[in-house]
Amino acid sequence: KKITIAIDGYSSTGKSTVAKMLAKELGYVYVDTGAMYRAVTLYAMRKIFIKEGYFDKEALIRHLFMVSVKFQMNEKTGIADVYLNGENVEKEIRTLEVSNFVSQVAAIPEVRKLMVKKQHEMGKEKGIVMDGRDIGTVVFPDAELKVFMTASADERARRRFEELKAKGDDVSYEAVLENVQKRDQLDSSRKDSPLVQAEDAILLDNTHTNIEDQFHILLQLAKD
Ligand code: C5P
Repeated sequence: KKITIAIDGYSSTGKSTVAKMLAKELGYVYVDTGAMYRAVTLYAMRKIFIKEGYFDKEALIRHLFMVSVKFQMNEKTGIADVYLNGENVEKEIRTLEVSNFVSQVAAIPEVRKLMVKKQHEMGKEKGIVMDGRDIGTVVFPDAELKVFMTASADERARRRFEELKAKGDDVSYEAVLENVQKRDQLDSSRKDSPLVQAEDAILLDNTHTNIEDQFHILLQLAKD
């Protein structure tokens, strides 16, 4: 019997890695909800509604009806890419610049309402792995399997730094660490759907254990 799997947790804890592995193994659909908030953020950046030290929230809210965020399967990777108003923005949303603004955009209730509505639609059919910050608490409180992932900030920043460097991004470890910590702080303290562990979520810390082992634990749980 197919189920809904909710994977939440702090930034760069390997949520998407585990979620993708589970989806592949179980033949489920994988939905990266962070990509949706990142796509809206990219829209706001392009319109200059947000920049360093400036954020015109009202302008973004007024334009939301013109923002389309959709997923479309990438046949090469076997994973869906995110599209902003018909344009594949999968690469552009992963920069540190987008990461630095995304938590401010994700804190806007109107933005969350719209994204959660889309997420409900995508999750109507069972057989889905969704990762984010509020999946087990707000989006799918009835999910059969809930996971909350964490790791030390140093370890998470180190992994994210290696990832960005491998892609050719010119970033410093310190800037990545600062981003990871600031995002966690903003995500945990916002009023609307803050980042918290659901009471019935399984806590996984991968500061020392590897993600492969955690995947096997979750796969077993999903099959039970
Ligand atoms: O998962 P990822 O790190 O790509 O998410 C980027 C940001 O999007 C998070 O730091 C958070 O501000 C926001 N987010 C959210 N709710 C989700 C998923 C992501 O607020 N369900």
